[in-house]
Amino acid sequence: MLKIHNTLSRKAEEIKPIHDKKIGLYTCGPTVYNFAHIGNLRTYIFEDVLRRVLEYDGYKVIHGMNITDVGHLVSDADEGEDKMEVGAKREGKHPLEIAKQYETAFFDDLKKLNILPPTKLLRATESIKEQIEIIKILEQKGFTYKDESAIYFDTSKYQSYGKLAGQKLQDKKIGAREEVVVDKRKKNSADFVLWFFLTGRYKNHVLRWPSPWGEGFPGWHIECSAISRHLLGQPFDIHAGGEDHIGTHHTNEMAQSEAAFGNPLANLWVHGAFMLIDSGRMGKSLGNFIRLQDLVDRGYSPLAYRYFTFGAHYRSQLNFTWEALDAAQNALDNLYDKISELKGQPRKFACADYIQTFEREINDDLDMSRVLSLAWRLIKSDVDDGLKQKTLEQFDRVLGLDLLAGAENLKSVPKEIKHLAKEREKARQEKNFKEADVLRVKIEQAGYLVRDTAQGPVVRKK
Ligand SMILES: [Zn+2]
Repeated sequence: MLKIHNTLSRKAEEIKPIHDKKIGLYTCGPTVYNFAHIGNLRTYIFEDVLRRVLEYDGYKVIHGMNITDVGHLVSDADEGEDKMEVGAKREGKHPLEIAKQYETAFFDDLKKLNILPPTKLLRATESIKEQIEIIKILEQKGFTYKDESAIYFDTSKYQSYGKLAGQKLQDKKIGAREEVVVDKRKKNSADFVLWFFLTGRYKNHVLRWPSPWGEGFPGWHIECSAISRHLLGQPFDIHAGGEDHIGTHHTNEMAQSEAAFGNPLANLWVHGAFMLIDSGRMGKSLGNFIRLQDLVDRGYSPLAYRYFTFGAHYRSQLNFTWEALDAAQNALDNLYDKISELKGQPRKFACADYIQTFEREINDDLDMSRVLSLAWRLIKSDVDDGLKQKTLEQFDRVLGLDLLAGAENLKSVPKEIKHLAKEREKARQEKNFKEADVLRVKIEQAGYLVRDTAQGPVVRKK
């Protein structure tokens, strides 16, 4: 059974499903005004592993996700423009066109990374009615106040506000830079907008809906309260996301859902750590973001990135460098290569010893780097080849690295291509780099890629 670190209790807890063998899992989706960067994608890979482990353990996972296509402002402190409108202006399109375009790109990335799509999906713009319903309840219960520009959630009325991050309300001002700005409209600096009216900066906001309080659009956090409740009920089992959501977005989701309905939003809160790039923050707003496509353009396979993320525990920061990705690509290519050399067919049963260790490791707070080491130990062991194949196939239900298919792919490299790779290696050893380069281009033109690993060159399909 899975034991996982709960951000709320600050300790590892065993999963105790609300409904027998079913788990309701909610993960916050993207704001679709731009491409996802690989740091965002690390979070989705970690959530995918979480879901795969639950499914491996025999649960039926109902995985709900939102798509943010309205109301997420440039600043988390309810300042600035709606990100969707920023995207729309940048590209001269309607916000919903932008949303569609980047939602497609997002799911494309997920597919390439073997990330299972959510079983239930709802867009913010498709759940306006549900969002308004919750705001109405909050208003009836006295948790809101209003001025000419918005309806706010009054955090001082909700006793346990900030419990997820372990923050007291008065401490909330310290932290994110934007929150230092004192917003005169708000009674408490942590208060947040539930519904924006079409005034000031938002006078010409494109996406707008009628509401009992007047025309406008929802704040960012309310959509996740409405969508998770609509898709999974309340409480549901696990809410997952990136650690950057703990202090504001998840804290606010929790406050409004629990204030409105008097019961917890989710039983367990699980968060993945940031990814750094060359030891610094990566972010769309910082303009240094790397997309999955950038890796592909440089000749890396998306699954090498997936492999790379398994190098650190999901709750530890991971530092992205091209050298580290290179090492991951080499390791994955080697793994495929070794598997392709295994004789015969997968057996019916896996190796019990290895499976036992594997199950212990995945269920111990998703320890994927130990699972990778285990796979390598198995490859190098004297376990029968057929057993190895079946065991790796079973590991791959969680790893999602296409281990057997990747190996099969290697086997399907035509003789001529393998020959070219050998010739190239010979040229390289003779330091005839010009010739080696000509041969590399030939291999690439035939639709294959050659990589030099510690164990020699490995060729794979592009
Ligand atoms: Zn959310």
